[in-house]
Amino acid sequence: MQLYNLKDKEQKVSFTQAVIEGIGTNQGLFFPENFERLDNIKELLELDFKNRSYQILKHLIGNEIDTLKDIVFDAFNFPCNIKNVHDNIYALELYSGPSLAFKDFGARFMARVLAKVNNSKRLTILTATSGDTGAAVADAFYKQEGIEVVILYPKNKISKLQEKLISTLGGNIHAIEIEGSFDDCQDIVKQAFDDRAFVNKVGLNSANSINVARLFAQVCYYFQAYSQINTNNDELIDIAVPCGNFGNICAGFIAKALGLNINLIIGSNVNDTVPRYLQSNHWEPKNTISTLSNAMDISRPNNWPRVEYLCNKYHWDKANIKYSVFSDDATCKIMQKVYKNNNYILEPHAAIAYQALVDNMKADVGIFLETAHPAKFKDDVDKILNINMPLPEAIVKVIDKQNLSVTMPKDFKAVKSYILNDFKL
Ligand SMILES: *Cc1c(COP(=O)(O)O)cnc(C)c1O
Repeated sequence: MQLYNLKDKEQKVSFTQAVIEGIGTNQGLFFPENFERLDNIKELLELDFKNRSYQILKHLIGNEIDTLKDIVFDAFNFPCNIKNVHDNIYALELYSGPSLAFKDFGARFMARVLAKVNNSKRLTILTATSGDTGAAVADAFYKQEGIEVVILYPKNKISKLQEKLISTLGGNIHAIEIEGSFDDCQDIVKQAFDDRAFVNKVGLNSANSINVARLFAQVCYYFQAYSQINTNNDELIDIAVPCGNFGNICAGFIAKALGLNINLIIGSNVNDTVPRYLQSNHWEPKNTISTLSNAMDISRPNNWPRVEYLCNKYHWDKANIKYSVFSDDATCKIMQKVYKNNNYILEPHAAIAYQALVDNMKADVGIFLETAHPAKFKDDVDKILNINMPLPEAIVKVIDKQNLSVTMPKDFKAVKSYILNDFKL
């Protein structure tokens, strides 16, 4: 498949190159010119998750990776099903991977693609995380030969359990807490990619959701969700997504471009740059505010230009994209209501998606994406619902391990010299 740099149409790369390079010149995102519709969606919807996902990814990527089927089967080796919450409202539970968040789908797929196409060159993965990416990337790349992983996260702004999953592995996984916000972490990553000498020296790659491997992997579970309601593709289904960097919902829009009969709804916390943009047509990011749904504490969402590109390409009127924005206070109330009425535990991100769905639903059936396991936010969830949730196995394993992360100012130079001085290059 051929991809373009959305900021520089002259830069064309293969899927493999896009995965390796992560981001294009001028910090442009790689994206294909257009997505060819799937002409066999009905047949695909009848397949099981792994076989269907392989077909979808083969359609997207083409024949560049001869072991694609093995990679998909190995990466997606955990369940991914919808669950009825009440009436015609379903949760797509995306939290059964090793780091208990949907990011496992993208990170595991990407790690395996990279291991396959890298030809044993030395690689440094530099990733900014608002909480869950780091854990998924750490797990996906842990102990991979020749790959050093540097994870930047905002100090005191991710949950303790998220931090444990990132900072306790050691080995080739280096966790750095940055004295700043997620956007500051993301800025450091962007600056690193602008430093071409550095990029080449350390073989820099970002496993952020700007990487097309992650994005494409996520397309698969929209089909999975849909298939559990309808296998004919003849019914519009609303799907609400809790949005931060807009990678997840971008994958949903790709699924729609491929022909899946869905309508996407944006769930947002008060870091609502995109909802305000949809309303006013002005792009005006504000300072990032810390919220309960910390993985969505992003005010300059990196993937939005891709969504915008798709809207233009397919003549989808942006003004028709529905959204809801919820404060922490509202988020708590939603969690309490659903727990009381339906005995279903939502964590803060999913709670926002749930209510965005309920408030904007037009179709007969609606699905919201449950992006993380509620136990990942145990401190908050226990307090809000007045319960004591048991910890899942993945967390029990790390809870008493030592936090190995180092602290740094929000300064690219500090991170750069750490990487240059501390790793055996
Ligand atoms: C990352 C994350 C999100 C936001 O997803 P984006 O792809 O960044 O929009 C939402 N919920 C949880 C739990 C996350 O980890």
